[in-house]
Amino acid sequence: MLSNRTALITGSTSGIGLGIAKALAQQGANIVLNGFGDVEGPKAEIAALGVKVEYHGADMSKPGEIEAMMAFAAERFGQVDILVNNAGIQHVAKVEDFPVEKWDAILAINLSSAFHATRLALPAMRAANWGRVINVASVHGLVGSAEKSAYVAAKHGVVGLTKVTALETAPTGVTCNAICPGWVLTPLVQKQVDAKATSLGISNEDATRLLLGEKEPSKQFTTPEELGALAVFFCSPAGNNIRGVAWNMDGGWVAQ
Ligand code: NAD
Repeated sequence: MLSNRTALITGSTSGIGLGIAKALAQQGANIVLNGFGDVEGPKAEIAALGVKVEYHGADMSKPGEIEAMMAFAAERFGQVDILVNNAGIQHVAKVEDFPVEKWDAILAINLSSAFHATRLALPAMRAANWGRVINVASVHGLVGSAEKSAYVAAKHGVVGLTKVTALETAPTGVTCNAICPGWVLTPLVQKQVDAKATSLGISNEDATRLLLGEKEPSKQFTTPEELGALAVFFCSPAGNNIRGVAWNMDGGWVAQ
């Protein structure tokens, strides 16, 4: 379905980003990966799906590096047809204790990077009259949780950016939507499970049950594969007129 398309997924060396990259590659899209840590493993996983794969190590907190990444993708593949703004980090602390440099980093990586990548991707998408911008927000783009001020502020910002981008592109073949996952067991969430286990002196299994039980009625994690399937749906012809939604996949978290 996507064999003539190129998808760039930020923060795709791990977790949800890698899951979405694999789902798009399974549909035939060529892939540009980004993110830190192991690169060769994810590159090999994508290449095994029979598509072309490139990697750019831009630090998403740095607008100049985002520009270099978008130029690299255009140079290698002609243009980016599908942009998935996914890179994100978390830090947990009360507002009055929140480290200022963590606030700045979360706003830059989780929110401003999506603005920069989108503004750089849109001209070619408009020229082709086809494009998909998919922002990985969070249930925290829709509701709050204590001790996550920067993350919740950034993710609400991503949902706002999604709506404005969707409105500005509404008369065209370019769409913009957000995906809002609840808990997904990735390294980002494993750190929060570990912190809970340590602070309460309980096992990892009990901490996991507690974490899910606090917020998620289904008491089960959403998987990167399920999120990848939603991204594929947005890219399908059925997604042609889905514009500006913030689609939660969250085990009922925000239905409460
Ligand atoms: P993860 O830690 O597994 O992956 C994060 C990715 O972002 C990695 O590839 C990492 O290298 C990359 N990254 C981090 N800082 C970066 C930077 N400065 N520049 C470039 N890349 C950088 O986390 P995840 O859980 O897969 O999170 C992916 C996205 O999903 C994030 O935006 C997160 O907020 C969102 N999300 C996660 C959950 C969850 O429960 N895991 C829930 C809702 C939303």
